[in-house]
Amino acid sequence: MAKYTEAKCRMCRREGCKLFLKGDRCFTDKCAYDRRPYAPGQHGRARKKVSEYAVQLREKQKTRRIYGILERQFHGYFVKADMQRGVTGTNLLVILERRLDNVVFRLGFANSRNQARQLVRHGVFTLNGRKVDIPSLQVRVGDSIEVPEKNRKIPVLAEAQEVIARRGCPAWLEADGAAFKGTVKAMPQRDDIQFPVNEQLIVELYSK
Ligand code: SF4
Repeated sequence: MAKYTEAKCRMCRREGCKLFLKGDRCFTDKCAYDRRPYAPGQHGRARKKVSEYAVQLREKQKTRRIYGILERQFHGYFVKADMQRGVTGTNLLVILERRLDNVVFRLGFANSRNQARQLVRHGVFTLNGRKVDIPSLQVRVGDSIEVPEKNRKIPVLAEAQEVIARRGCPAWLEADGAAFKGTVKAMPQRDDIQFPVNEQLIVELYSK
C-alpha cells in the first residue's frame, strides 16, 4: 500500500496551520510550525498573490493530509460523497471520519492517525469480535471496536484511559478505556468535526 513518506512537520508549514500529525510532540515547544510558522523552502517567507484555485487546492491538501490519505483515494471518497444524498462536502467529511483508523485515533487508542493506521494494519483490534487489519474500513452505527486481552500490554493502548480523559471523545463515539473498548453510537455530524476546514472549497475544486 502506498504511503506518504515526507516529513510531517513540513506539511503543517506548507498548509499554514498545525495539523497535529505527530501526537504529543505537537503540544510541546518542539513543534516545527510553532518555531517556523511559514512555508518550507527558499521562498517560504516570500509574499505571494494567492489565486482562488490555490486557496481551494490548499484546503483539499490540508484535509487530505489531516487524515493521511493519498490523492487517488481522496478523490474516490469525493466521488462517493457526491453520489450520496445531502451536502457533498459534509458527506465527504463524514466518510473520512468513519474510517477505522480515524475511529481508533478518536477513541484514544493512538496518539495520531498515522499511529492508529499502523496499529490497525498490525491487527491489534477486533471489530464486532473479528480481527481487522483494514484502516480504510467504514464503521457503522452499533459497531464495537475492542482490544483483545493479549494486546492490552502495548504501551499506547495501556494509556488509552488517560488519553480519553485528556483529549475527550466525540459525541458519536463511546469510549471505555478501562474495558479497552469503543462503540459507534451514531453517524458523525458536521459539528463533531472540530478542526478548521472549509469543505465547500474542496467541492468547488473538484467541480471545475
Ligand atoms: Fe505539525 Fe507541529 Fe505536529 Fe510537526 S509537531 S506535525 S509541525 S503540529
